[in-house]
Amino acid sequence: MAYTIWTTGACNLKCKYCYEGLDKPSLYMTSSVAEETLKFIIYDSKKDDELLINFHGGEPFLNFKIIQYFVTQLKEYYMGKKEVVFTVTVTKSRRGGLGNKMDILLLITYCLYDIMIQIW
Ligand code: SF4
Repeated sequence: MAYTIWTTGACNLKCKYCYEGLDKPSLYMTSSVAEETLKFIIYDSKKDDELLINFHGGEPFLNFKIIQYFVTQLKEYYMGKKEVVFTVTVTKSRRGGLGNKMDILLLITYCLYDIMIQIW
């Protein structure tokens, strides 16, 4: 089963083609919503052998603590029982984007299976 988690609607870029438009909602997933989402994912995917989690936004790394939460909890919960694959979609431009480089490096070395980067 695959799940996409919107960590935030906020973004530090203004791509002309953005599906969110130019006025992005400054909404961030809270810890309590993350906890409920985690419970739902565990319940909903119990018959699956593999779990795919994609972090999306906005710029998902602007809410890095939520990414860390899901990664830590799911890896711990499923260790040795189920394969969990994490991916993230981010954008890089001369004006910014891509979140904090250390956050990304940390995630890549820890668990990230795939990173999709749009560069413009
Ligand atoms: S990086 Fe993504 S969310 Fe941000 S402005 Fe561009 S398309 Fe929109």
